[in-house]
This record gives sequence, C-alpha cells and structure tokens, in this order.
Amino acid sequence: MNIVKAFPDEHVWSVAARSIKWSGFDSSSIFFDKFGIDQSHIKPTKGNCHNITKLAKFKEFEQLQKSGSSFLLWYLNFDRTECADSELNSAEYQQARESQLTVCSEWKFCPCCAQENRALYGTAYWHNKHNLPFVTHCTKHNMPLSHVANLKDLDSLIMPNRLAADRIQSQQYGEEFFNWSRFVERIFNMLEQNPSVATQLRQKIWSRLNPVPNEQKKRRNHFNGLLNELEAIVPNSILRHCFQFYRDEKRRKSNILFTTYKRDGIQIRNPVYMLIILYWIELEDSSIFGDLHETTNITGNPAK
Ligand SMILES: [Zn+2]
Repeated sequence: MNIVKAFPDEHVWSVAARSIKWSGFDSSSIFFDKFGIDQSHIKPTKGNCHNITKLAKFKEFEQLQKSGSSFLLWYLNFDRTECADSELNSAEYQQARESQLTVCSEWKFCPCCAQENRALYGTAYWHNKHNLPFVTHCTKHNMPLSHVANLKDLDSLIMPNRLAADRIQSQQYGEEFFNWSRFVERIFNMLEQNPSVATQLRQKIWSRLNPVPNEQKKRRNHFNGLLNELEAIVPNSILRHCFQFYRDEKRRKSNILFTTYKRDGIQIRNPVYMLIILYWIELEDSSIFGDLHETTNITGNPAK
C-alpha cells in the first residue's frame, strides 16, 4: 500500500484517508494493521499522540508527526522537551482529562482554501492548522471554518470538496476569534520551527504566576486575583468557547491558573490551558514573546 505525498499543511489523517482511497482497498483495517495502529476514532483536535507517534516511526510519516497534527502543541505540557516524545507516547496520555473542556470532535475546513486547493491540486483536503484545538478561523482568508460531524473513522473521511452540502455546518464567530485563531497558529508555528520554545513559553507563564505565597489562604487569594486579571483581558466569549464551566453557570468554576500551576497528578492536559494563559500574557504585553521569535530566527533549524 503506497502512501500519497502530503499537500502543504495537510493533516496526517487526511494523508492516510487519501492513501486508503487511492490504494483501491475498501477498508481502513489494512492501513491499521500495516502501521500497528489501534482502531480508535480519528479525532482531529485530540492530538492522538499515541497513534501519531506510532506512525512517525515510518519514513512516509516522519515529518507529518510534527507538521500534520496538533502533536507539537502538547509539548506545552513539559518543562523539558527531551521527555515530551516518550511521555506523549506512554499510556498515561490516555488519562488527559478533557471533561471540563468543550472539545470539538468535528472536522473543520475553509471553503476558500478548499476551492483554491482544488484548482491547484485537483482535490481539497483537510488542513492541520484549521483543525488545531479550539481554532475557529482560517487566518489566510479571515473566514470562520465550516464544520463537518460524523467523520470519525478513516473510511468516512472524505475530502471537503466531495461532501454533500447538507453535511456542512457554517459557524458564526466574532472578530475576537480571528485574533485568537491567529495566536494559536502562531504558537504552533513557533514550536514547529523550534520545539524547545515550549520550555521558554512555560517559563513566561511561571514568572507571571510567581511569587506564589506558601500559606494556603494567601495562595487562594493570589490565584483568584490573577484569574480576575485574566478574565478582564481575555474575551469571555473565548473562555466560553474553550471551557464548559464558563459556558454553564451551574458548573463549579475552576481556577485554570491554579490547576495549571499545581499540576495535581495530572501530567498531561489539553494544550488549551497553556494557550489561554499565554494568550492572556501576550494581550497584556504584546512584546512578551519577541525574544523567542528572535531566538528561533537566529538558530534556524529546530532542535531535536
Ligand atoms: Zn482559507
């Protein structure tokens, strides 16, 4: 079975789905067997680090691990990037708690990109950057992405230009979501250039949260105060978009700064926690990641 060449920014599961289709097999099981992948549902935003790490051992997919999935954003869980790959590949990853989030399991695409891709390549395809967690817009066309439900396995993952119109849902999002999407994409690009930027981004967060008082009561006040500052700057619509406890007032609101700081046995979280905190500190000080850009530009090649 041959693996087709990936288009620019193509999602790894899009490459796999096209390969299965073009190979003439009518089932994805041959693909799963060959690459030793669990027959789990293919969710675009979930990272699927376990399966993606398995795929990355094959030459055809080597590059796609880093550029064709949200894998790199999960590096934001680690102070040291050296352990990121093995940790993300371990069973503990499966325990990443997502019950408090509004994780979107739908596939997303930009109608303009689909049209352009079709003219250029003869087919549209699923872009990785449109399917990063909690992204809502195509930053190239400044357009809200269209959503498609029920594309949970590789057999059903048909390309956007072949979808029946009634399966496509368009979504409305305010202008603030465009800036948010652009931010997530920019962080992803920084990590793609140099994965060890994750360490530096985390340091920015820890220094914004410090000094944390030792005494428990003071500590609670400290984090409540910081959360007020975050909520005054990050648009509420974006918090509601990401976290269930902002959307549903009956749920007990969790202090995302405190839970991120104390890391109570949960080693790996959805990257949205770190992304929201990073977004907050950048909205406060637009130059805060300036030195990181410089570092990545000078060093050029990504550190392995
Ligand atoms: Zn587009």
